[in-house]
Amino acid sequence: MELRKDPITKSWVVVGPSDQARVPDDPCPLCPTNLTRSNALLYFPDAQKWQVCVIPHPRPLYHIEGESGRSAIGIYDRMDPVGAHEIVIETQDHNRTMSDMSDDEIHAILDAYAVRIADLKRDPRFKYVTVFKNRGQLAGAEWTHSHSQVTATTFVPRRILYELRAAREWFRDKERCVFCDILRQEEKQKVRMIDTVGDYAAYCPYASRVPFEVWIQPRTHNHQFETLVSSENRRNLATLLGRTLRRLAQVCEGYHMVVHTSPNTLQTKGELSEYWKTIAGDYHWHLEILPIVESRSKSYSIKEVYFNGRLPEDAADRLRKIDPGS
Ligand SMILES: [Zn+2]
Ligand SMILES: [Zn+2]
Ligand SMILES: [Zn+2]
Repeated sequence: MELRKDPITKSWVVVGPSDQARVPDDPCPLCPTNLTRSNALLYFPDAQKWQVCVIPHPRPLYHIEGESGRSAIGIYDRMDPVGAHEIVIETQDHNRTMSDMSDDEIHAILDAYAVRIADLKRDPRFKYVTVFKNRGQLAGAEWTHSHSQVTATTFVPRRILYELRAAREWFRDKERCVFCDILRQEEKQKVRMIDTVGDYAAYCPYASRVPFEVWIQPRTHNHQFETLVSSENRRNLATLLGRTLRRLAQVCEGYHMVVHTSPNTLQTKGELSEYWKTIAGDYHWHLEILPIVESRSKSYSIKEVYFNGRLPEDAADRLRKIDPGS
């Protein structure tokens, strides 16, 4: 496998067949009895009575050893798939999903995300750490056992680059954070707000790409998910995420969730180095949840343009009215 850069869009693509030996998916490799625990990277709260266990992905897209080996093939750029690829096993219970979990359990998972992001960012080879979760078969979940994934890459994913550029330009023009501005306006207008717990707010974004798209972000400005600012309490984030997922469980079968946080500012090479001057002021971490709704809901994308058959205002209204339980 190797990484190739599209010279037009500048996005990196992992190409080539996976060179990993096939790991059987039955019995479930994430269940405690089948787990090879010798290579575990993290246990929460401890190795004996763990709820969360982080392991290297058995079929990694990226490999931890070596340098990126950036080189040119004529006008093209390529590099080796150096990075990290990890699985966050969220529970020992094969049948428990995140929306079934208590606030404390979700809190432990979010803390594990933060620990892994902070740890991987200490490696200056890695420009970005992505944490994401595919829930449900339709979302492309590799295993039914509840888990998330962490990747550390020697490049910043394209969507993050778009966000960084836009946030930096907004900041340059207005000396304000675009994400703070968005949330302030949403809280004033109220039509797309869903819920708030402590310093955290959930809302349907104005230009939602899919029905019931939800973003969660702290009200107080903070560019890094992994580092709490004084007004934040991750327990409240866990409560809000649980309430949001229980609402979404009523309207969709699965979802993609991704943490968007600041890139690794230890990296000073390349086009990104100029971003770091204002990043603490211009970027704002957030969670994006993109539900997978059944095909009859008329959500589809035509090539690169999203068509969302449900107004975000209606989606927020529907989600607000659903009892989030506890
Ligand atoms: Zn399992
Ligand atoms: Zn902000
Ligand atoms: Zn984002």
